[in-house]
Amino acid sequence: MAGPRPQEVLGRVLRIQGLSVRGARLTSRGLEVEVRPRQRKPRCGVCGRPAPGYDTKPGRLWRHLALGQTIFWLHYAPRRVHCREHGVRVERVPWAAHDSSFTHAFEELVAWQAQRLDKSSICRMLGINWRTVGTIIERLVEERLSPNRLEGLQVIGVDCYRAA
Ligand SMILES: [Zn+2]
Repeated sequence: MAGPRPQEVLGRVLRIQGLSVRGARLTSRGLEVEVRPRQRKPRCGVCGRPAPGYDTKPGRLWRHLALGQTIFWLHYAPRRVHCREHGVRVERVPWAAHDSSFTHAFEELVAWQAQRLDKSSICRMLGINWRTVGTIIERLVEERLSPNRLEGLQVIGVDCYRAA
């Protein structure tokens, strides 16, 4: 049967730019997908500039979205780089923020739910704890809200309505 290889199929299911899939295995946690950044030269996790390799950390997991009941995890042994500005740092990976154990897509899901659900519902649905929800939201807010966002603001309107 001709068709895309299993790695390609998995890559399409993950829908994450900039990574390639090496393999996958089912564990008690879910489907652990072995990945690596497509970019050969490692980049500093803080500033994103290419930097010479320093060493390689042990393999670790990032939590991604679930397909049905199966949680997807990304597995990769990140390299450390020696950045001229930031010293020895873990490399930037295209699927997650620096220092996060969750993929960008998972964090987006948490943020979306946080605008619509109470925190304990999110915790129950995603199987994560309160602290994690808070950390993810803080990071996204910091990333998205520019300190200049209120510049040029002249009028703030407040709608008041009474419940019938
Ligand atoms: Zn740097």
